[in-house]
Amino acid sequence: MSETVTIAAIATAPGRGGVGVIRLSGQNLLPLVATLTGGKTATPRLALYSDFVAADGTPIDNGLLLYFAAPASFTGEDVIELQGHGGPVVMQMLLSRCLELGARMAEPGEFTKRAFLNNKLDLAQAESVADLIDASSQSAARMALRSLKGAFSNHIHALVDDVITLRMLVEATLDFPEEDIDFLEAADAKGKLQHIREQLDGVMAQAQQGAILREGMQVVLVGAPNVGKSSLLNALAGDDIAIVTDIAGTTRDTVREMITVDGVPMHIIDTAGLRDTDDVVEQIGIERSHKAVQQADVALILIDPREGVNARTQEIVDGLPEHLPCLEIHNKSDLLDATVLQTQQYIARASDVMTLSAKKGDGLHQLKQALLKQVGWQGEAEGLFLARTRHLHALQAAAVELAYAADCGEAIDLLAEHLRLAQVCLNEITGEFTADDLLGVIFSRFCIGK
Ligand code: GDP
Ligand code: ZN
Repeated sequence: MSETVTIAAIATAPGRGGVGVIRLSGQNLLPLVATLTGGKTATPRLALYSDFVAADGTPIDNGLLLYFAAPASFTGEDVIELQGHGGPVVMQMLLSRCLELGARMAEPGEFTKRAFLNNKLDLAQAESVADLIDASSQSAARMALRSLKGAFSNHIHALVDDVITLRMLVEATLDFPEEDIDFLEAADAKGKLQHIREQLDGVMAQAQQGAILREGMQVVLVGAPNVGKSSLLNALAGDDIAIVTDIAGTTRDTVREMITVDGVPMHIIDTAGLRDTDDVVEQIGIERSHKAVQQADVALILIDPREGVNARTQEIVDGLPEHLPCLEIHNKSDLLDATVLQTQQYIARASDVMTLSAKKGDGLHQLKQALLKQVGWQGEAEGLFLARTRHLHALQAAAVELAYAADCGEAIDLLAEHLRLAQVCLNEITGEFTADDLLGVIFSRFCIGK
C-alpha cells in the first residue's frame, strides 16, 4: 500500500439531520482518535461514545466514533467514522477540526478510488457504488447492489480465465513450431473459442438490459404545431408541466420529463416546432430540440389524423436522423367518428402506427408498451447487472476480437493476437488495464464522501 495522506469528508447529505457522519481514511489513525477524543483509544468495529474536542479541550460535539483498522475496511486503510449531530454548523466545525489534525478534504469518489487502488473493489464494482447512490428506480438500485457484490465482475473474471487458458494453448503452439494446427485441433481450441463467444454473448445480453435500466431511453415528441405534443407529454407525465395553448408555436422550449415504465426510465422530450424562424427565443428552443433529436433513441411523430401528413410534418420527418426509429402517432382520436377510426400509415419509415388521445388518456398504455418493445426491454430485472455504456463498448470490442479470432484459419500468430486483444478489452471492465485519465473521469463523477 502506498503512503497516503489522510482524507476527510462529511459523508451525509447536506442540510439538517438527526445524525451527521464524517468519514476519514488514512494510515495509522489511532493518534488522531486520541487527540480528538481527549485521550481515548478505539477498538476496531466497536462503537466508542465520546466528546470530540477542539485544540483547547472544549467539546465541539459528542457522539459515536467507529474505527476500522487496515486492511479490514472499505478503503483498505484505517477508516474512522464520526457520528455527530447532523447540523451543518457542527458538522463543519468537526470537519475543520479533522483538517487541523492533518487530514485534507477528500475529492469526489476518493474513498472508493482508494478502495479500488487497494484491491478492495474492482473498477466495475467501484462504479456500481456510484450507480447505487444515483439509482433512479428500485430495479436499478437492486441491480447496482448486485454488481457491487461482484455479480458482473465474476462473469468477466470467468471469461478472462477462459481466454487465458485458450491463449496458453495457442501460444504454446507458437513457441513450439513442431506443435502445429493439429495440436490445436486435438485440444479442441475451436470448441473452446466457440464456448467463450457464447458466454460473452450471454453476458452482453444481460448487460444490455442492465444498461437500458441504468441509462433509460430518450423519447422525442415531434410534429407540426398543435398536433398535441405538449398534451401528450403532460398526459405521460401525469401532470401539467408544459404550457398547452391553442396558438401555434407557443411551445418555445424543449420540455422534458422523466417517467418510469415497468421500472425502465424514459426521458420524454417535447420539441419546439423544428422550423426556421427569426424569433430569437424560438430559435434557442429549436436548437435544443435539434440536439434532443440527435441524441434520441426513438421519435414519436404526432399527426392529427383529420389532416394527415401536411407539408410541415413532412419537413420535420425528412429532417430526422436517418437511423432514428420512429413511431407514427395519430392523436386526438376522441375527435374522430368511431366508424372512421382507422390506422392508415402515412410515414413509410415508421415501424408502427398507434392511435390515441392525449386529452382523454386513451391509448397511453399501448404507447408505453410499444416504447418498451422498441428499446428491447425483456421485462425481467432479476439477475441483471447495472452495466454502463463503457462496459457495453468493451464487451462489444471483445466480441469483435473473438470473431476475428474465429476467422483466423491456420494463422496461429493472428489468432494469438486477437485473443490477447479480447483479453485487454475484458480487463478494461474490471480495471486491470485502465489508463489513469479514465480512472480520473470515473471517480470525479462520484459525490464527496464516497
Ligand atoms: P403542440 O403544439 O403539438 O404541443 O400541441 P398542444 O399539446 O399544445 O395541443 C394543441 C391543442 O390541441 C390544444 O388545444 C389541446 O388541448 C388540443 N389537443 C391535444 N391533444 C388532444 C386530444 O387528444 N384530443 C383533443 N380533442 N384535443 C387535443
Ligand atoms: Zn407544445
